[in-house]
Amino acid sequence: MEINLVSDTVTKPTPEMLQYMFQAKVGDDVYKQDPTINALQAKVAEMFGMEEALFFPSGTMANQTAIKLHTQPGEQLIADKYAHVYNYEGGGVSFNSGVSCCLLDGHLGMITATQVAGAINNPAFYHSPLTSLVCVENTTNKGGGACYELEDLRKIKEVCDTHHLKFHMDGARIWNALVAKNDNPKVYGQLFDTLSVCLSKGLGAPIGSLLVADSPTIQRALRIRKILGGGMRQGGYLAAAGLYALENNIPRLAEDHRRAKELGAVLSKLSWVAKVEPVETNILIFAVQPHINETDLMEKLNLKNIFISSMGHGKLRLVTHLDYREVMHTYVLETLEKLY
Ligand SMILES: *Cc1c(COP(=O)(O)O)cnc(C)c1O
Repeated sequence: MEINLVSDTVTKPTPEMLQYMFQAKVGDDVYKQDPTINALQAKVAEMFGMEEALFFPSGTMANQTAIKLHTQPGEQLIADKYAHVYNYEGGGVSFNSGVSCCLLDGHLGMITATQVAGAINNPAFYHSPLTSLVCVENTTNKGGGACYELEDLRKIKEVCDTHHLKFHMDGARIWNALVAKNDNPKVYGQLFDTLSVCLSKGLGAPIGSLLVADSPTIQRALRIRKILGGGMRQGGYLAAAGLYALENNIPRLAEDHRRAKELGAVLSKLSWVAKVEPVETNILIFAVQPHINETDLMEKLNLKNIFISSMGHGKLRLVTHLDYREVMHTYVLETLEKLY
């Protein structure tokens, strides 16, 4: 039994999900004739109370499309220093859109309206790049699964409106945030120009993301997705997995959150652990004491069939998910307690 806590992207489709995928009705989506993709897009748009949604093969492509939509080459976006769009999308911000990033020193990957306001370049001062977009991430990945308070997002939105900036949410793990905060997705729909969501993280689908926005924006996004090579044909088999996940796998995210908190509670009592970051959802980041070597620790765990990831600088990360079940959880808690 291998226990993989490296990421919530490691899940494999269940027999029920595969069955649902097999039965999907499909067509050529480049001609907008795939009924299952159309149904998924309509469902997600409706969930967020926005006009349309567009299916993407990856969250990266959905985010990169959003950035391209909202910026011109030479302009600048504002994001937290931990942002996925800056750290983990291969430099696509500059490659695809020719824009630079103004990175803010936020808290757990989250930024504030005051920080944003202070980072906007004066548009009249033509020496500096023109600020055109603010990106927030919810939950934060590198920030350890933290989620924003709605009120704080509203304040950032106000700053964006005042300064005519576009507002994008990287909602790869928005489902975790909605469950943790008990928020209504329709409220999020009102705050953002574009919102990306992933089906392939906690929801357990093998592939798929969507970008949600108003109709004119999605019309433009369709062209950018085509340019990036993301126009798919009978993708309905994949969209079916997403539909299944949305129908069945949202409420159970609370279990992932509980398990991550329990892991955090155990770790925080161990002498070899220096610090456990606050656990709000399914990501847990912790630091080991200086005398503990991360690689040794990971090898020790590997020998017990437990796999986690290192973030460098003595920090390690665990992510709970659909395929991390209660028996595994009990075993991991016991193993951690006896490790050193
Ligand atoms: C996973 C993730 C994405 C998208 O990643 P893909 O691997 O391209 O699907 C985007 N943003 C965040 C915060 C993520 O965690």
